[in-house]
Amino acid sequence: LPSRPDLDLAALVRTIPDFPKPGILFRDITTLISDAAGFSESVRRLSERASVYRPDLIVAVEARGFLFGAAMASAMGLGLVPVRKAGKLPGVTVGVDYELEYGTDRLELHEGAVAQGHRVVLVDDLLATGGTILAAAELMRNVGAEVAAAMFVIELPDLGGSKRLSAAGLACETLIA
Ligand code: AMP
Repeated sequence: LPSRPDLDLAALVRTIPDFPKPGILFRDITTLISDAAGFSESVRRLSERASVYRPDLIVAVEARGFLFGAAMASAMGLGLVPVRKAGKLPGVTVGVDYELEYGTDRLELHEGAVAQGHRVVLVDDLLATGGTILAAAELMRNVGAEVAAAMFVIELPDLGGSKRLSAAGLACETLIA
């Protein structure tokens, strides 16, 4: 599809109130990716920004990060490595626990999936508090990889994620804020 620098991606994202719990405004990217121009333009913009960091690999976070990360990796001619929730990867894994508002969660990576010294770009659909992507970045550091940048389609600026990321020295790019 041709490049559409004028395309308003934000207009293609749907907001659903009170999902998954009361008080949350859920940013639903299914309406963005079911639009052919919207999806290809999102992937083009993400890939363009990611290539500036000259990554060796794309690392995408479950689940909606896979949708964008997979398309980016293919467009950029790079491999894709999934970071998944606990218990989903079949091989030997390395993991990291991280704090949620209530309780903790765990992200896992296949052992050996990211080589020591590789430069990776992390991808997720949305940056809220930054907790998820900082956990993924910690996982990368634990296996000796370098996180070149973290990329998101959407940022919720009121939740302070990009401030937390820059405080942690992590470069961050978002298409919609
Ligand atoms: P956080 O760790 O707080 O930055 O949250 C980011 C993760 O939670 C991403 O994987 C998002 O897909 C998901 N997420 C958090 N808040 C929302 C929201 N309002 N709408 C859609 N997804 C969200």
